[in-house]
Amino acid sequence: MPVTDCPEEIQASVAKVKEMVRSCIQCGTCSASCPNAEFMDITPRQMWRMVLTDRLDLLFASRSFTMCSSCYWCTLRCPRGLELTRAMGELKQIGARLKLGNSKKSDLFYRLFLDNVRQYGRVREVELMGRYFLGMRNPMAPLSYAPLGISLLKKGKIKPELPGRGPGKLADLFEAVQHQEGI
Ligand code: SF4
Ligand code: SF4
Repeated sequence: MPVTDCPEEIQASVAKVKEMVRSCIQCGTCSASCPNAEFMDITPRQMWRMVLTDRLDLLFASRSFTMCSSCYWCTLRCPRGLELTRAMGELKQIGARLKLGNSKKSDLFYRLFLDNVRQYGRVREVELMGRYFLGMRNPMAPLSYAPLGISLLKKGKIKPELPGRGPGKLADLFEAVQHQEGI
């Protein structure tokens, strides 16, 4: 996907990320520091190289940026003082705006997670995962989570609950923040 084929707002976001990582010296400290690197198909260091060489096709075919948990460890340790966590966040937003496959799943999860918190004031895991599986429209998806779910149920870490009714406990707070942020 050449950058020039993307909508203007995406091109501007990519340019912003490029600027953020322009002085990367490819030392690999970010990759070595990242606690989620083992779950990534390309390393953070490789991602910055792809950004700087305009290989968005490779970058957005990867799911690495969706695995970033914003722990800021790479940002703290980068010898060039680059704002890597912010750059990862920007890539997540580009992925969501382009509705890319890898971003769609995490976008769906974040949205349902927030809806759950808005409704109950806390996360009700069983309902959240139920809605997530329905949203993924993949009947095989629950199977990979089944062993973990059964183990958590046995240990009493989660318990099935009926979906609640009525207005969300934090609805007013969410509304106030949306108003404040102009979204
Ligand atoms: S730690 Fe900083 S300089 Fe080193 S590879 Fe990562 S982004 Fe580049
Ligand atoms: S902020 Fe993201 S990319 Fe950086 S170390 Fe943490 S998880 Fe890894």
